[in-house]
Parts: sequence; structure tokens; C-alpha cells
Amino acid sequence: MKPNGHTASERSDLGFGVPVWAGPARVVTMSPAVPAVADTVIIGGGFTGLATAYALAKSGRDVVLLEARQIGFGASSRNAGFCTIGPSASASSVLEAYGAEEGARYFRWFLNAVSSIQKLVEEECLDIDWRVSGRLSLACSARHAARLRRNFDIQHDVFRLPIEFLDGAALREHIGATGFVAAISDRTSACLNPRKLVGELARIALKHGASVHEDAPVIRVRESSSDVEVTHEHGVVRAQCVVVATNGYSESLGIGAQHFTVPLGSFIVATEPLSPDTRRRLLPTGKVASTISNYSNYFRILEDGTLLFGGRKSLASYGDFADIGNELAAAARELFGDAIELPTVARCWGGRLAFTRDRTPRIGHVSERVLFAGGYCGHGVPTSVSAGFALARYIGDGERAHCPFFSDTIRPSLSYRIARSLMPLIGAYYRSEDRKDLK
Ligand SMILES: Cc1cc2nc3c(=O)[nH]c(=O)nc-3n(C[C@H](O)[C@H](O)[C@H](O)COP(=O)(O)OP(=O)(O)OC[C@H]3O[C@@H](n4cnc5c(N)ncnc54)[C@H](O)[C@@H]3O)c2cc1C
Repeated sequence: MKPNGHTASERSDLGFGVPVWAGPARVVTMSPAVPAVADTVIIGGGFTGLATAYALAKSGRDVVLLEARQIGFGASSRNAGFCTIGPSASASSVLEAYGAEEGARYFRWFLNAVSSIQKLVEEECLDIDWRVSGRLSLACSARHAARLRRNFDIQHDVFRLPIEFLDGAALREHIGATGFVAAISDRTSACLNPRKLVGELARIALKHGASVHEDAPVIRVRESSSDVEVTHEHGVVRAQCVVVATNGYSESLGIGAQHFTVPLGSFIVATEPLSPDTRRRLLPTGKVASTISNYSNYFRILEDGTLLFGGRKSLASYGDFADIGNELAAAARELFGDAIELPTVARCWGGRLAFTRDRTPRIGHVSERVLFAGGYCGHGVPTSVSAGFALARYIGDGERAHCPFFSDTIRPSLSYRIARSLMPLIGAYYRSEDRKDLK
């Protein structure tokens, strides 16, 4: 598998590579001029912002969404479209932090995030190539398998999740590549076309009366006791409440949102279509798959046979497409072994994730009138939509229970600043842990 189509000098900082997802550059007809007053202003036009705008507009609220570039410019139209039922946090860490009952509620929230997208597809007739595929969470070594088993036991026996543990012949029914020794499998996870989801969320938000604006970067957010003044490139909007939905693209806002989470790059290669035979051998039951390494790799096969293979071996949010394409191609060869012949890489692109220390998203108050949702740790497709719905319901009824980890006080933290400057060291530590795990 050789990367091609990109020169060594092309940089992918900010994720400017072109994703495989077809769709027009602009997915919405912009609303006319930005109003001067609204109930709620949303900053950022990815899944989080659009889902919040849709849910608020549907409940009759007056909502303005401001996106700095185009709708979906961030991770929302650059991801792999996995809509999986699990959180990023391990079951053992959730059990330790939340206990059995709250831990079960925590895991259910992620499970329900997938069903709420399914419900939305049905209710609003979304055209997003939705497919209930199931998912494999894969162990590549005996150490991985032991860790996977411990997490399976908690998820299955304590949190009562609809999952199975597979190894040996049962595993081979789902994956033909030789590099895997065990998996947690589910039948509930799904996959979708993220670019279409961006377009459809924008469509239904507009249909219910949201005011959606592209090319409208927010420059300043100033809160007073009576309202919030949001200054954007074309003027000012005053609102009772502001939702910051900028996730891994938060640094341009002067409210410290970049210090709730750590932004990391993730990259994907798309190959020329696999032969029908290779396709059948690699993922015979059509599940989406990911490894459980610190530097996880994830992969799925699209309808036309294109293999998407993503991940990274560094925490940097920039890099050279040719190098990253080579790195991902080598990782795929290593994982799949000789049994799977991979075709040429046709594209490579990337974007920014946002991570948190405990691998739990941050949803809640930054200050009295400013709310934030983000830090989905690579699981943001279903989670960001549910976070948007939870925030919209909270704005409507003041009820925190719509999300088990809603926080009244998300504060910028020094440790996040430090983590950013130590990124190369942290990255090297995770690489060495992964090497130990594979021995
Ligand atoms: C390569 C890659 C693969 C991934 N694969 C998956 C996957 O398969 N499954 C999964 O669950 N998750 C995946 N993710 C994560 C998922 O895509 C994100 O968690 C999710 O899209 C976050 O949505 P969001 O709306 O919060 O943020 P984003 O989509 O990043 O949107 C933030 C928006 O804020 C805007 N913005 C920033 N500053 C301002 C400002 N000052 N004014 C106005 N607007 C501003 C940006 O332009 C951007 O459009 C992946 C991410 C990447 C990068």
C-alpha cells in the first residue's frame, strides 16, 4: 500500500486534507443577516453546535449559530463515521470513579447516544447512509486480551451492556486478518456518512427556525449580570445564554475553552476499493473495528469497497500527508498481516480531536451564562449530538440529569496548559506503553 496523491510539502495542519466524503463545500444556504438579539448563541457549527441549535429551535427557542468557516469545517466532516456505543474511558476506570450504579448510568448514556441518532434518522428522515453495523474492539496481544477481558466482565456483568467476548474461531468469523487475538463485539454500534450528517443537522435546524451563519468567526464573548455580548466578525449579538461548541478548534476564542481539553490530531487514509474477495476476508460481517492500543487504529469498509484506516503514532495535530500516509499504511500492513492484500492509498486527511484527562467529555457551565460541550476523546459522533441535546434540554428545563457527567463548574486548568507543552513526552510514553503491550 503506497500513499500517493499528496506531495511531501503539503502540510495537514488544521486538517486541510480533503476527506473522502462527497458533498458540496457549503452545505447550507446561509440565513440572512445575523440578528442582534437571540435567546441563545451557539459558537461552532459541528455536530455539537448543530444538534444544540436543532433541539433548541425545535422547542421554540430563538437561536443563532455562528461558524467561523463552513458548517462542518472541524472534525465533524473529517471523521470516520463510527457511531459506537462505548465511551473512551475504560470500564474499570468508570467503575472506580462512579461506582456500579452511576457507572451503569454513565455507560447507558453512551449506548443511548447511538439510539438517539437512530431515532432522529427515523423522525426527521435523515439521509446519512446510516447502517447498524456492530463493532469489534480488538486486542492485538495476550496483554491486550487480558485487559479487554477485565473490561468486558465489568461492562457485561456489572453495567449489563449488550456485548460479547470473542476469541479463536468465533473471532475469525468477523475478521480475517491474523493480527488479532480477541475482541469485544456488539451488534448495536452503527456507521454513517459524517458529511451528510452535518448537512442534515443543518437542514433540520434551519427548518425549525434556527438562524445559521457561516464565515462568522466569534472574536469575543463578554458576560454581564443581565446577558452575554457575543462579538463576531460582522457585528454583535446579545443573548441570555451562549453555548461554546468549538471542541478541538477552541484556541481562537478568548474564554479559555482550549484549557478544558487537549487537542490532538487524528488522520485517516482511504484506499482504492478492495477486491470483493479481500473485502469478504477482512471484515466478513461488515462490522467497524478499532484496536485498544493507546494509539488506537480504526478501520471500516465503505459501500464501494474503499478501506478507511485511521489513527496516529504521535499526538501532534499537524504533519506531512506523505509521512502520515506511509505511517498508516505500515500500521495497516502490520495489523492485517500478509493474508490481506491492500491496494494503493488514494487520500489522506485529518482533523482535531479533543481529549480530557479522565477520558470523559466536559458538558456544563463555564460561567453563569456560558455553557460548553466537548472533549469527546475520539467518540464524538454520537456523543456530540447527545451532548447538544442534553444542553438544549438543560437550557429549557434546568435539569442536569440529562447527562450523568454534567458539571456546574468547568474551569480552565493549569494541568491542560502543561499537558500541551509536554505533548511530545506524553506521546513518547504512550508509544513505549504500546510497545510493552505488544510483547
Ligand atoms: C480524523 C478523525 C476521525 C474521527 N473519527 C471518529 C469516529 O469515527 N467516530 C467518532 O465518534 N468520533 C470520531 N472523531 C471525533 C468526532 O469527529 C468529533 O468528536 C466531533 O466531530 C466533534 O464535533 P464538534 O461539533 O464538537 O466539533 P467540530 O466538528 O470540530 O466543530 C468545531 C467548530 O467550531 C468552529 N469554531 C472554532 N472557533 C470558532 C470561533 N471563534 N467562532 C465560530 N466558530 C468557531 C470550527 O470552525 C469548527 O467548525 C474523529 C475525529 C477526527 C479528527
